[in-house]
Amino acid sequence: MRFDTDPYLTRYADRVQGMRASEIRALFAVASRPEVVSFAGGMPDTSALDLEVMEEVVASVIRDDGATALQYGGGQGREPLRELLVEVMHHEGVPGNADELVITVGGQQALELIAKCFVDPGDVVLAEGPTYVGGIGALSSHQAEVRHIAMDADGMRIDALEDELARLASEGRQATYLYTIPNHQNPAGVSMSVERRHRLAELAEAHDLLVVEDNPYGLLDFAGQTYPSLRELIPDRVIYVGTVSKTIAPGLRTGWIAAPAPIRDKLVLLREAADLCASNLTQMIVERWLTSQPWREQIKRFTEVYHEKADVMLGALDEQMPAGVTWTVPAGAFYVWLTVPAGIDTSDLLAKAVNHRVAYVPGRGFYADGTGGSQARLCFSYPEVARISEGVVRLGELLHEELELVQAVFGDTAPQARTRHEGSSGSRGG
Ligand code: PMP
Repeated sequence: MRFDTDPYLTRYADRVQGMRASEIRALFAVASRPEVVSFAGGMPDTSALDLEVMEEVVASVIRDDGATALQYGGGQGREPLRELLVEVMHHEGVPGNADELVITVGGQQALELIAKCFVDPGDVVLAEGPTYVGGIGALSSHQAEVRHIAMDADGMRIDALEDELARLASEGRQATYLYTIPNHQNPAGVSMSVERRHRLAELAEAHDLLVVEDNPYGLLDFAGQTYPSLRELIPDRVIYVGTVSKTIAPGLRTGWIAAPAPIRDKLVLLREAADLCASNLTQMIVERWLTSQPWREQIKRFTEVYHEKADVMLGALDEQMPAGVTWTVPAGAFYVWLTVPAGIDTSDLLAKAVNHRVAYVPGRGFYADGTGGSQARLCFSYPEVARISEGVVRLGELLHEELELVQAVFGDTAPQARTRHEGSSGSRGG
C-alpha cells in the first residue's frame, strides 16, 4: 500500500505530531553512494579494530557462558560490567561506583530515558547551541522547549547561560535541566575550558540546576588530555552519560548513566518499562573485551587515527576554502564546525554538494530553533585519509562557485570580502 498523506494523523499522541523525518534523509541515501565522500555520519572508524580478536571475544562469551548470555538480565544491567565501566570512567578521572550506574542501549537510550524521567510537555531544557541532533530528538519527543546557550572556542558561554537563567527567573520559570557535552562537543568540535566548568558548577548551585553531562568523546583527546568532569565538581546535580560507541564499537549498543541513587532508581523503572533490560550477550562481550584486551591501547590507537584524519582535513581546509569561510580546530574526537559567509545556506547547498560528490550535515539540524543556516558539520573520523582531502577539494570548489554567485548578486557588499578564517576557534591540545 502507498500513502500520499497520512490517514492516521489525527490518531497520534501530541508528542508525535511534530516529529517528521527530515528532508535531508533522502539526500543521505544518495550520499552513501561510494562515489560521494561523506563527512555526514558521525561514525567511528571500526576498521581500526582487529576483527579477528573481536571474533574470538564474541565466541568465547558463548563458549564459556552461553546460557547466561542468552538469558534475560536485570534492569540496572550486569554488575561485572558496571564495575568495569567505572574503571573506564576512572581512566578519565570521572568518579563513580558500580552501584550508581544503569546500563543502557547506547548513550542515546540514556538521553531518552532521562528526558522521559524529567520532562513534561513545555518544560524548558537548556542546551548548547549547536548541540547533538539525537539529544534534540530525545527532548523533542517529550515536547521540551529547548533553549540554546551560545558557544565559542572555549565551549558553552557561561555569560550567555547566566543571561538565560536570569530570563527564566524573570518569567517565573526554572529550567528542568541543562544538557551539555563538555568534551570535544558534537557538532562544534570544541571543549569547555576548565575555568568555565567551575563557573558552571557555581551557577548550578546558585540556581538549583540539574545538569546532564553527555561524554562520549572525553577519552578521544589527540594529546591524551582529560578535563575535570562536572560529575566530579557537583556530583549531586549531575546525571552523567557514557557509551562504549566511540571507545570500542557502536554496534555493541552499550552505554550507561551514572546518577544519584533516587534518580537511578526511577531510571531503572523507566528502562524496564521500555525494554526490560539490556542484552546480556552484548554486555558480556563488552565485559570480555574490557577484561581480556588492552582497551586503553585500543583507545590510543583510535585517537591516533582520528588525529591524523583531523590534520588532513584541517590542512585541506586551509588550502581549499575561500576567504570568509571559518571553522573550529578540534583537539579531539570527530568534528569540524564550518561557518560560511552570509548569502549561502548550507541546507539549500546540500543537494549541489551531493552532486559534487561530497556530503556534510547542514547546521540547522543541530538547533531546535531553526538557526544554523550558515553552518555545517564535517565529520572526519570515518572516510579514508586519501578521500578526506578529495572531499574538501570538492567542497572548496563548490563554495568558490557559490561565492561568485553571491558576489554577482550583492557586488562589493558581499560578505565574503571580510578577512580569511575570521573567528576560527579552538586550539590543538588546549
Ligand atoms: N551523545 C552524543 C554527543 C553523540 O555524539 C552520540 C552519538 N553520535 C550519542 C550521544 C549516542 O551514541 P550511542 O547511542 O551510540 O552511545
